[in-house]
Amino acid sequence: MRLKKGITASALGLTALFALTACTDSAETGASSAPEVNEEASFPEGSTMAELSEAGSITIGTKFDQPLFGLNGPNGPEGFDVEIGKIIAAELGIAAEDIEFVETVSANREPFIESGQVDIVIATYTINDARKEIVSFAGPYYVAGQDLLVSAGNPEGIEGPEYFQENPDAKVCTVTGSTSETNIREYTQSILTAGTYSECLEPLRTGNAVAVTTDNVILAGLADQNQGEFEVVGNPFTEEPYGIGLALEDTEFRNWINDVLEQSYEDGSWEEAWEATAGSVLDTPEPPAVDRY
Ligand code: GLU
Repeated sequence: MRLKKGITASALGLTALFALTACTDSAETGASSAPEVNEEASFPEGSTMAELSEAGSITIGTKFDQPLFGLNGPNGPEGFDVEIGKIIAAELGIAAEDIEFVETVSANREPFIESGQVDIVIATYTINDARKEIVSFAGPYYVAGQDLLVSAGNPEGIEGPEYFQENPDAKVCTVTGSTSETNIREYTQSILTAGTYSECLEPLRTGNAVAVTTDNVILAGLADQNQGEFEVVGNPFTEEPYGIGLALEDTEFRNWINDVLEQSYEDGSWEEAWEATAGSVLDTPEPPAVDRY
């Protein structure tokens, strides 16, 4: 595998020229960086890598409404998850503009992988044992933690999930099919469920819910997008290692993606991807060790 050079000034200029208008559930990227494409990529015959490389395109499921990680903005999908997708595609010899990004929400990630609607999912997707029964995971490439988003000034004085044990009628909003939903059920049954986290903002605004709960980095993106309206409590109560979801039996592809991730840690492209996206709001973390389970 070659070392990549990362973002160049000319790459930044070029991607601006290729900026595309967003569409509702599928889009090509026009975001801010483009890793160098490995034109010499060659793979074992019959492997998923060979198939994708020969096809010259890859379909990636990601979030479309989560600023910092996966947001389908005016220039196409952008965010750290999108950039990780570009790093993987580039090593397959696939340019950023040949990636098809498809919207996945929390509840449809496993079905989209199982049905082959997407080749991989990179979507703030926690690796856990239940999901490992259905899909396979490369990574982790980041570790988040579940937290709470409240109205600015934190009028209820919410410090953690225990608040909901002490106030069983207070409602918290989260998303169906997420680990956030499973985790908060240990504290309360007063839960409003939505299809995506951005749909939880209105109940918080109107007072139908006193908090939104999911991973701290998702909440940080929503707070940043809606300046002055919300704040993150800042007391994470779980560990959410983010993986790249792929077909259950495809160990060869998983191992190869893990190699690409480790390479991106070494050559600086992981850090550049962070700094170009989530890094506008969050400090740059150390990349986590990949788990070759
Ligand atoms: N990381 C958690 C999960 O995969 C919560 C965020 C999300 O729903 O994408 O369920």
